[in-house]
Amino acid sequence: MTTALQPFRVAEPRTVKEAIAARLDHTGSRFVAGGTDLLVNMRHGISSPDFLVDLSGVDQLAKIEDNGDGVTVGAGVTIATLARNAVIAARYHALAQAAEAIAGPGHRIMGTVGGNLCLDTRCIYYNQSEWWRSANAYCLKNRGDTCHVAPQGKRCHAAFAGDLAPALLALGAEIDIAGAQGIRRIPLSQLYVEDGKAHLTLADGELITAVHLPSSPPPSAYAKIRTRAAIDFPLAGVAVVLATFGASVVSLRLALTGTNSRPFLIAGTEAFAGRPVDEELLQEIDRLVQKQVQPMRTTLTSANYRRVAAASLARRLTAKLFAAGAA
Ligand SMILES: Cc1cc2nc3c(=O)[nH]c(=O)nc-3n(C[C@H](O)[C@H](O)[C@H](O)COP(=O)(O)OP(=O)(O)OC[C@H]3O[C@@H](n4cnc5c(N)ncnc54)[C@H](O)[C@@H]3O)c2cc1C
Ligand code: SF4
Repeated sequence: MTTALQPFRVAEPRTVKEAIAARLDHTGSRFVAGGTDLLVNMRHGISSPDFLVDLSGVDQLAKIEDNGDGVTVGAGVTIATLARNAVIAARYHALAQAAEAIAGPGHRIMGTVGGNLCLDTRCIYYNQSEWWRSANAYCLKNRGDTCHVAPQGKRCHAAFAGDLAPALLALGAEIDIAGAQGIRRIPLSQLYVEDGKAHLTLADGELITAVHLPSSPPPSAYAKIRTRAAIDFPLAGVAVVLATFGASVVSLRLALTGTNSRPFLIAGTEAFAGRPVDEELLQEIDRLVQKQVQPMRTTLTSANYRRVAAASLARRLTAKLFAAGAA
């Protein structure tokens, strides 16, 4: 059961500057891009802003540019455009695979890169109707005072489940953030913190304007497990970027989504440099991932299944990338 949308007004800025000004002029307002996450949450009564700043008319955000030094993807580029872009498919395979695996075709036409990176975190006790949540006394993330997943704790463990972030993290992407003070550029990893209630480090009125990709990253791949193959958020999603010389690892980067309140890079993979890609290494990757992921009971699928599946995806994807390079 969904709630009727509360009345709200919409600003339609044409520039980033106008968008920031409109946000800061209206306390409690929100940016909206494709609306495929925010409007669903508004229908569930999770969020009820009375003023939205629509980013879809800001042309500056909707470009993909190959500037010789790398590729810049505007935050307003749609997932469908990203998925079918020839440069992205050729040089950033993990990113193209992640884009193709997001939701369904209709969502991909509307949904954007910026909205995907700023997706709200998800939990079975949170992504429910107003009626359902009120019958369960809400929860710590929204209007309640207890976390039903970890009732003794004081933090929300809702999981981040965007598909693009792990691919971008593994590829070493940076983002531009615009705000009242100007533009700052940070590694994507600094956008996130491990807190399901407040997982983004954006200040009030700040928006992501672009994502910068390095010019020639090593081969990459992305894979996810989900309940419904046709259209679903990842229960766990893994991106791998692997450079090899002969049979040995030169560098390996692994990033995950779906298991924690933030997408994150697996730490310690630099120790694999110089090692052959063999069964022993793959087992070590499996153990490293299992140690660092922190799935909680935020989905109908068990936390332990998501832990084991994440590790298995990382192991298999690394082996597959290596085999493809050796072929
Ligand atoms: C049935 C269904 C299945 C889905 N499956 C998946 C899936 O498999 N994988 C997946 O990743 N997603 C999935 N989604 C979520 C969503 O469709 C995509 O993540 C989409 O890319 C979100 O982008 P958007 O532009 O629609 O975001 P919006 O809903 O417009 O915005 C989402 C959030 O980001 C903020 N925001 C938007 N743009 C910016 C910006 N430039 N800077 C700062 N903040 C910004 C908004 O204020 C809002 O808080 C699914 C959604 C549905 C309804
Ligand atoms: S993890 Fe706990 S606080 Fe967070 S959304 Fe789920 S039930 Fe609510």
